[in-house]
Amino acid sequence: MSIQRHNENGKIIAKKFTIEQIEEADDQDAGYCIACGAWRDCCEPDARKYTCDECGLPHVYGAQELVIMGRVVDEC
Ligand SMILES: [Zn+2]
Repeated sequence: MSIQRHNENGKIIAKKFTIEQIEEADDQDAGYCIACGAWRDCCEPDARKYTCDECGLPHVYGAQELVIMGRVVDEC
């Protein structure tokens, strides 16, 4: 996945993840980068601002932290 930026202010648009993706990460002590969407191993559930191996930005969060932050896709 690539990083999406806001057209006007250049800010990174944070990715959202499905509840299945988040549960899988939670099971495996992993997290996701909200900038590029990359999976990251060895991430505590409450990890915050870890550096992403893919894009190099400090936007990796643990599974539970993603839920708290509301980075979950609404599905119906
Ligand atoms: Zn990244």
